[in-house]
Amino acid sequence: MTDLHRLSIRELSEGLAGSKFSSRELTEHYLKRIAKIDAQVHSYVTVTPEQALAQADAADALRQAGNANILTGVPIAHKDIFCTQGIKTTAGSKMLDNFISPYDATVVAKGKVAGLVTLGKVNMDEFAMGSTSESSYFGATKNPWALDHVPGGSSGGSAAAVVADLAPFATGTDTGGSIRQPASFCGLTGLKPTYGRVSRFGMIAYASSLDQGGPMARSAEDCAYLMNVMAGHDAKDSTSMDQDVDDYVANLNGTSVKGLRIGIPKQYFNVAGLDADVKACVEESLKKLEDMGATLVEIDLNMTDAYVPTYYLIAPAEASSNLQRFDGVRYGYRCENSVDLTDLYKRSRSEGFGPEVQRRILIGTYALSAGYYDAYYVKAQKVRRLIQQDFLKAFESVDVIAAPSAPTTAYKIGANLTPVEMYLGDIYTIAVNLGGLPAINAPVGFDKDHLPVGLQLIGNYWSESQLLSVVHQYQQATDWHTKRAAVAEGNA
Ligand code: GLN
Repeated sequence: MTDLHRLSIRELSEGLAGSKFSSRELTEHYLKRIAKIDAQVHSYVTVTPEQALAQADAADALRQAGNANILTGVPIAHKDIFCTQGIKTTAGSKMLDNFISPYDATVVAKGKVAGLVTLGKVNMDEFAMGSTSESSYFGATKNPWALDHVPGGSSGGSAAAVVADLAPFATGTDTGGSIRQPASFCGLTGLKPTYGRVSRFGMIAYASSLDQGGPMARSAEDCAYLMNVMAGHDAKDSTSMDQDVDDYVANLNGTSVKGLRIGIPKQYFNVAGLDADVKACVEESLKKLEDMGATLVEIDLNMTDAYVPTYYLIAPAEASSNLQRFDGVRYGYRCENSVDLTDLYKRSRSEGFGPEVQRRILIGTYALSAGYYDAYYVKAQKVRRLIQQDFLKAFESVDVIAAPSAPTTAYKIGANLTPVEMYLGDIYTIAVNLGGLPAINAPVGFDKDHLPVGLQLIGNYWSESQLLSVVHQYQQATDWHTKRAAVAEGNA
C-alpha cells in the first residue's frame, strides 16, 4: 500500500489486525517518508531506524503468536523531552546534546508495553521554553503548511511530524500551551490533560507544577487512542493522581453536544492582538456547535489581565530551580579547561544554555531571591489561586469554556518577536496550566494565507473524555481535521 500514512490510528489498528500490512511494512513506510521529506520540515532531532525495525519485528511476532494489543506495531514519535533508554534525549539543548538516558520515561515505557514502535525523537524549543521551536539548539522546525513559518512551540517537532505524515501521532508536553498552540498552528488535535493525569517521570522538567504530557494527532479519535496509553497513576511521580482512568476511545460518543453549555469569556474575545481571521473561524466553529445543539453562554473571566505576568513569574521561578542540576558536573555539557569550580559552573551553563533559557533562569532567580520573594513569587502564587477560582466559578454555570488557542496563526520564521511580544501570544493557554485544568485544541479553519486556526475547549478537572467526545462529534460533522498540507502529499 502506498498511502499507509493517510490511515487513522483505528484504521492502522484494524489493518494490522487483519494482516493487510505488517508493522515492518508500516514502519518502513514511515522511515522512507522521513528520509524523503523531513529535510524540508526538520521535525526530527533523532531518527532511530534500527530500533524501530527491531520493535516492528517484535510487534509482528507478538501478533503472529496471538498476543497483540490494539496498538501493537503502530509507530509513534516522542517529543525529545521524554527520556528514552539508549536513545539520545536532548530537550532541544546543547546542554544535553550527548545525553543518553539510562531509563525510559513512564510515558515511553507505557508505549512500549502497548506495542508502539518509536520512529525517533522530535524537535522542540530548548527545555520547552518558547512558542516557535526556533530556540532549539538543533535549528528551527518548519510548518508543513508554509515552510517559511514556524510550527509553534514548544512541541513544534511533534506537530510538524504529524501534519507532514511523518508519524501517525506523537507525544507532546504542555507547560503553558506547548501542546495546544502548535496543534493550532499546524491544524491538529492536541489534548493537555488535567495536571496529574499523565506521569511526569522521565519527562525533563521545565516548571514542575505546570508541566503535563499529552497526545497530538489528527483527530480526537486518534488522541483518545494515545491517551489510553499515556494516562494513569504512576508511583514514580508523586504528583500523579491515583484516580480511575477512563477508556477514552470507548467514551468518544459519551458526551452529547446537544444541551452542552459552552462558556464564552467576554474578556477573551476583546483581547488586543486577536487576529480578525482567527476570531472569525473560532466564531464560525462555535456557531457550528450551536447548530449541533450546544448553548453558548457569555461568561466573565475577570483575571485575564493577570495571566501573562503570573505565569511568567511562576514558570521561570520553577525553571531556575529545576535547571540548577545542569552544572557541568553530573551530566550534560561541560566546558573545556575550567580553572576552578566556579569557572566550571559558569562557563558550562553559559555555553550550554541558549539565550531564552538563560533569560528565564535570570528572571526566576530574581523572583525567588530573598528581597523579592514575597513581592513577586508569593504574590504570583496568590494570584494563581484567584485565576483558578475564576475558572471554577465559571464551571458552576457552563460545561466547557471556549477560546482561541492562540491570538494569531503561525508566525514567520525569524519574525524576531521581542520576548514580551512572544509571551503575550500565550494569553489563551497559560491560565489552564496555572489552574491545572484540561483543554483541547481542534482545527477549525484557515486564515487568508491558508494557515490553520484552532479552537480551544477548556474543561473542568478530569473531563478529558468529555473534551475528546465533543471534538470527536464536531469532527464527525466537519472535515478541517482531514486537510493535508502540500508537503504531506510529497509534492511541496
Ligand atoms: N510558550 C510558553 C512558554 O514559553 C509555553 C511553553 C510550554 O508549554 N512548554 O513558556
